[in-house]
Formats: sequence, structure tokens, C-alpha cells
Amino acid sequence: MNNLASNSSENELIADRVFVRESLDKIPAKRQLSVQENADYERKIIALLAAKNTVIVTHYYTDPLLQALVDKTEGCVADSLEMARFGSDSSASTLMVCGVKFMGETAKILSPEKTVLMPTLEATCSLDIGCPIDAFSAFCDQHPDYKVVVYANTSADVKARADWVVTSAIAVDVVEHLLAQGDKIIWAPDKHLGRYIQNKLGAEGDEILLWDGACIVHEEFKLKALGDMQHLYPDAAVLAHPESPLVILEVADMVGSTTQIINAAVNRPEQQFIVATDSGIFYKLQQAAPKKEFIMAPTSGEGATCRSCAQCPWMGMNTLERLYDSLLQESNEIKVDPELGKQAMVPLQRMLNFKRNN
Ligand code: SF4
Repeated sequence: MNNLASNSSENELIADRVFVRESLDKIPAKRQLSVQENADYERKIIALLAAKNTVIVTHYYTDPLLQALVDKTEGCVADSLEMARFGSDSSASTLMVCGVKFMGETAKILSPEKTVLMPTLEATCSLDIGCPIDAFSAFCDQHPDYKVVVYANTSADVKARADWVVTSAIAVDVVEHLLAQGDKIIWAPDKHLGRYIQNKLGAEGDEILLWDGACIVHEEFKLKALGDMQHLYPDAAVLAHPESPLVILEVADMVGSTTQIINAAVNRPEQQFIVATDSGIFYKLQQAAPKKEFIMAPTSGEGATCRSCAQCPWMGMNTLERLYDSLLQESNEIKVDPELGKQAMVPLQRMLNFKRNN
């Protein structure tokens, strides 16, 4: 398949690209807190949440300490689609979004009347920064007869340029719906998810053009090491997120979004699962299916070169300490230009309506 939007080498890891490495290099080392310090932060945060009419909306990939805190409050731990829906339906006046920046922006676009805070504004995503608006918009302009479908992991500017926003939970269904009505598609930014969609729907030729982006966490999963692991655990089912490379998805027993992976672990008969997605999801997996065993799929981190090792370094920037500081000082507020927000709302609303109708 040779319809990628840029001519970068196919073997080049996204983490090796200059703009991604620059961002990774800026991530400060994580301060390890004692059990007592964590408990103190948790207590103080719970008091502030009530005093400031705030809920926490966090992603499955964040630190289990944050997910446990949400379990004790009225917040939400979810995938990005459910985070968006929860935030817009919530009656709280302030949303504390723990995740990466595009999640905070999405929350603000959907709830412009709410204050949206984040523990840090520096947490980004290799998919988001790999799809800059000027280059992407120029690419779209070269293909005016294509519908532009972008993944939720994009900036507000890129969403505003799109016809549709989707998450991994509904990506295949939305593209299938558009192809069925005769549309051709620009898919951005995740090339692995794009290839999965092409394969799944049997799309041919230039029906779907792919932007050349990838997630630094999921592109680390390696087929040979996964095969070795399957020999060790012959009864285990492989559950994979579609941001993983196609060779991994082809051997997986189930491919789906984070929520779909959790549901599969609960409902499938197997007792052991090899899981190819960010390791933050293990907290919810173990909670949802406590008698089952979950094994991390192998990454290229067997050597000394791993920059992610199945843990998103940007998700890891969300700590109790930063959350507390942001809540106390009402800092790290997400701002989205109102006009841009209105434009981005159109494809986002299509996403939410599609989910609700299907
Ligand atoms: S896990 Fe991958 S897709 Fe998710 S925020 Fe991190 S870099 Fe982006």
C-alpha cells in the first residue's frame, strides 16, 4: 500500500522523528512520592473537588493512582470517546481532564461554558504533533473531492479542518458508512489504524489516503516477540488496539478500542490474555475481570532502545501532585478560540451522533 501522505521511510520509528524526540526530551523526570504523600494528595484533592464543583475525567492509560482516585469520586475513567461524552453531560462547572492535550481541547470544544483544567499542558501525543495543521490542510487542499476523517488524537485546528472526527471505537463503522455512500477518504493521522480500516473494509487503490503518523507506544509491539510469548501462553487470547502495526493485528484474536478490549476480557471464555496496548489499562482490566490473568505484549524495549515500553510518556505526566496544584491554583486552563471551537464542533458532533444512532 503506497498511499501515505509523506515520503518518510517506512521503517523509521515515529519516536525517532525530530519533532517527536524534541517533545519527549522535554518530559521531566517523574518524582516518586511515598505512600503517605500520595494519600495526603488524594485527601486534599477530594476536598477541593467538592469545594470547586469539579469532576475528574481521566483516560485508561493514566497512572492507576489517578484511576483509583476517580473510583472514589464522581468522575469518569474511560476511552477518549466516553471521556468526551461524560464531560459534556456532566453538571460540574469545571472538568479536570487527565490525559493528553487533545482530550482537554475536545472537552472544551464540547463544553465551552465549562472551565477545563489539566494537570499539565505539556502532555501531548505523537499522533497530534505529527499532524501539523498547515501541512495537513495543504494535503487536504490537494484532494478536494475527498472526505476528511480524523482520529480524535488531533489538535482543535485539525478537527476544525475535518468532515468527521472518530475514535478507534467507531472508526471502521464511520469509514464503512462513508464508502458505502460513494465517498473517498483522507484518513489521519494514524497509518496503522488506517491500514487496519483499509484491510477490514477491503478498500482499494486510492479510496483511502493515509497520513503518515503513528503512536509511539503501539508501534513498539513486535510480531516475533509476540509469537514467542504465544508459545509460552498457548491458551491466551491476544487483545490488540488498532493503533498497533498491522502484523500484530493480523494475529490478534480481537482488535478494538480500550473499552472494547476491557469488554472482551470480561466476556471471552479464555482465562489468560496478552494485551497489546498501553499498560495503564491493566488497572481496569484487573478490576473488571479479577480472576483472569493479563500479560503485557512484548515491545522492542527488550533492548535498551525503548522510549515507551508500552507506557505513554505523556500520559505519565499526569500525577496526583500536578493535579492538586492545577486544581488549587486553577491553572493549566484549556482555551480554544470560540470560532475555531464552533468549526471543530461540527465533526465532533457527527461523531457523538453516530455513536448514539448506531
Ligand atoms: S498512547 Fe499513543 S496515541 Fe495515546 S496519547 Fe500516547 S502517544 Fe498518543
